[in-house]
Amino acid sequence: MRRIYVILLLSVLEEKNARYILPTIPDVIHPPVPDDVKIGADMEFMFEDPDPEVTPGLFQGDMAMTNEIYNYWRVGIRWEVFPEKLWVNGTVPYVISPIYEPADQVTILKAIHILNFMTCIRFVPWNGKTKDYLLIWPIKYPKGCWSFVGRFGGAQIVSLQPPDSTGPNCLGTEGRTIHELMHALGIFHEQSRWDRDKFVKVHLDNIIPQFVSNFDKQSLENTTYSFEYDYDSIMHYGKNFFSKGKGKPTITPKMPGVKRLGQRKALSKGDCLKLNDLYGCFDNPRLRRKYYTLCQFMGL
Ligand SMILES: [Zn+2]
Repeated sequence: MRRIYVILLLSVLEEKNARYILPTIPDVIHPPVPDDVKIGADMEFMFEDPDPEVTPGLFQGDMAMTNEIYNYWRVGIRWEVFPEKLWVNGTVPYVISPIYEPADQVTILKAIHILNFMTCIRFVPWNGKTKDYLLIWPIKYPKGCWSFVGRFGGAQIVSLQPPDSTGPNCLGTEGRTIHELMHALGIFHEQSRWDRDKFVKVHLDNIIPQFVSNFDKQSLENTTYSFEYDYDSIMHYGKNFFSKGKGKPTITPKMPGVKRLGQRKALSKGDCLKLNDLYGCFDNPRLRRKYYTLCQFMGL
């Protein structure tokens, strides 16, 4: 594992140097948020567990939804219905905002390199030409950590709020970047699985009423799951997300022995398998062996 980290670190450093040579920065300081992103009332909330991922007005806290996707997603996104949401050949061009401090850029690059290393998906610096790419930017409104789900088309924002006097926000570690990039790749929250009630209990009474729909689940007809329920997923909500207050968990595990729900530190084994599966990395027998082996290394 140590060797893996060294390789990752070296490639992060390489990438950082390369960034200054490649023409990867668009000539915009405030990229527009598309008009049809669902933004709710302009309200500030205090949460028991203040979390930059739980931005009021965004779908399930951190997913920017167009009305079109939102309506379809009520019954679950399907690649057959939205083939265009999948990144072609698993290639995802990206631009990191020059507004970020170098340390924050390194955090974002670390997340990118982990995903490139653990899967056959390839995040590549935008060449300034391809139509679709991710614009990783500290958006001011709605601020927080948020992303579209799947490929949106054109310059697609992934919002990552940098550290400030209130705390590390989305960039304390690379975990939240990985979480938002996984949304951009087309992955939803783990607890929205159709079968989640077998594994977790949702405490509706403890959820701030306007956020109850964040705990909706998807119907079985419209989604498929190849892997077992993953309490450790980087895509799972924590116990107190959208809680009314202290001591009022909104979601708790049903399985005995499970202590923790979700985390924002690293890909779990399940996350790793899920991504590789979604992007066909297991189709080729050689790659299948490679990525399966890598996913087994994930301790979570
Ligand atoms: Zn999320």
